Amino acid sequence: MFRALQMISGKPHIDRMLGRVLRLVGARKALLPMSIAMIAVMLVVVAATLMIARSQAWEQAEQQAENVRRAVVEDVRSQLTLYGRMLDIAQGLLGGPQFAGLPQDLTSGMLARMVHDFEAAGVVIVLDPAGFSVADSSGRSKRTDNFADRDYFSVHRDQADKGLYLGPPYNSRLRSGDPSFALSRRITGDQGQFRGVVVAAIRLEHFRSLFSSIDLGPKSTISLVSNDGVVMMRQPSSDAQGDVGRDISASANFREIKGRRSGTLVATTSIDGVERLISFGEVTGYPLLVNVSVATEEILADWWREAVLIGGISLAVSCALVFLALLLQGKVDELENAKAALAEVVSKDALTGLANRREFDVIVQREWRRAVRERTPLSLLMIDADRFKQVNDRFGHAEGDKVLRELASEIRGNLRRATDSAARYGGEEFAIVLPNTDEAGAMKVAETIRLAVSAKLQQTGAAGGGAAVTVSIGAASVIPDYAKSIDEFIAAADGALYAAKKAGRNRSQLADLESGQSSRVVSLPPRPERN
Ligand code: GH3
Ligand code: MG
Ligand code: MG
Repeated sequence: MFRALQMISGKPHIDRMLGRVLRLVGARKALLPMSIAMIAVMLVVVAATLMIARSQAWEQAEQQAENVRRAVVEDVRSQLTLYGRMLDIAQGLLGGPQFAGLPQDLTSGMLARMVHDFEAAGVVIVLDPAGFSVADSSGRSKRTDNFADRDYFSVHRDQADKGLYLGPPYNSRLRSGDPSFALSRRITGDQGQFRGVVVAAIRLEHFRSLFSSIDLGPKSTISLVSNDGVVMMRQPSSDAQGDVGRDISASANFREIKGRRSGTLVATTSIDGVERLISFGEVTGYPLLVNVSVATEEILADWWREAVLIGGISLAVSCALVFLALLLQGKVDELENAKAALAEVVSKDALTGLANRREFDVIVQREWRRAVRERTPLSLLMIDADRFKQVNDRFGHAEGDKVLRELASEIRGNLRRATDSAARYGGEEFAIVLPNTDEAGAMKVAETIRLAVSAKLQQTGAAGGGAAVTVSIGAASVIPDYAKSIDEFIAAADGALYAAKKAGRNRSQLADLESGQSSRVVSLPPRPERN
């Protein structure tokens, strides 16, 4: 890019175009600050857009977690409701006198038909008051199998009013260690006596496959936890088995979740130390909670990719813009300097540093127009070095140049008003435009200069050999109007100068514009010439 810029810069038409653009913008010096301000605005917009995108990504994830959690809660609740109904019916039937002595096969067959279509059903067993299996939907247990050690038996035996009981997870003895939890009811006789327990073992495998079928991202989890803080099923899990039975009741997250019952929470999970957005809620009517946790790094992964890409591009564009602005500013400065140098060359006399003839023409026309507009007097002095040819002849051209420079500085030094302008008219001739100056004022300036020149250039002996340098001055003063011309005005001053020369040099002569004659001669006593 730098090479491309180098190629386009330096070409006159490109530079001209640049100049035009910058004039339009009106911001030569403000180019860099303006670019920086524009970049800042752009970066703020980009940052704001990214922040909005971030909060949208977050809201979307929150919404998704919430929806999944509701769906899971609904599934768990409807499963448990079915089992609960079934147990209600079973205990009602089994508690009645007509079922008391039914053969085991019959009861088991009835139970098997009841749970036939239940997705999560492990087994339904009826236990007698001593904990022995009396009926089994799977037909696996024998009459001698005793389950009195299981908490679902002791709870119902000891608490007549327990109702529906949901126990902690365990590994099934009948189904080769299949992780399950039990939903159970007491079978109560006519007189309220304990007649045993009807238990539905619910397979946690059902929830494992349900949770793993929902894809929220590799580090996101779904878990079913008991109100006591025991994990029933978690997918994915740290032990690959579902973390069944893991106690998280002491964790701060669990305490907060239990306290709030339902909502969302951003926290680091105690099991694996990953920060997650957790949507949690209870399974109404059961001592269970469902947590859907989405890893925050997964929520923001896409956003981060976008942010890095867009941020990177924005920064690169910003740097390129600053670089361009700097380059352009350099170009502008270069152009400005060149313009100033050119203006100097075009308007200044190289030897004396005064305005040159071309600039004199511009000044005199400008001041003429101003004087016409404002009806103010305008004066012009034409100054010519006397017998300057002799200076050159005697001391050389270089010395002559030196004298001309001193002469110019003397002229410049004796102008009092900022509006007065001196120019080198040509050769050893100078012109002074005096705006708002009448005849008297013009002659005063003329005499001041003439006397200063003759005094200083003689005293210092600028020419080295002590040659006298004097000037003759022709002055013209007029209140211009449209009837009079500048040429006439200049010719009058020239005429007065000629008259001053004719009258003996080293003098000032005022032109009479009305008659075309030089009206007055002001001069020092003629000096003896040395050469
Ligand atoms: P006067 O004006 O008094 O009639 O006599 P003069 O000798 O000054 O008049 P003239 O116009 O004949 O000569 C002007 C001389 O000024 C000619 C030239 O040698 C000298 N001159 C003009 N321009 C320059 C310059 O740039 N440098 C130097 N050193 N001399 C210059
Ligand atoms: Mg001359
Ligand atoms: Mg001369």
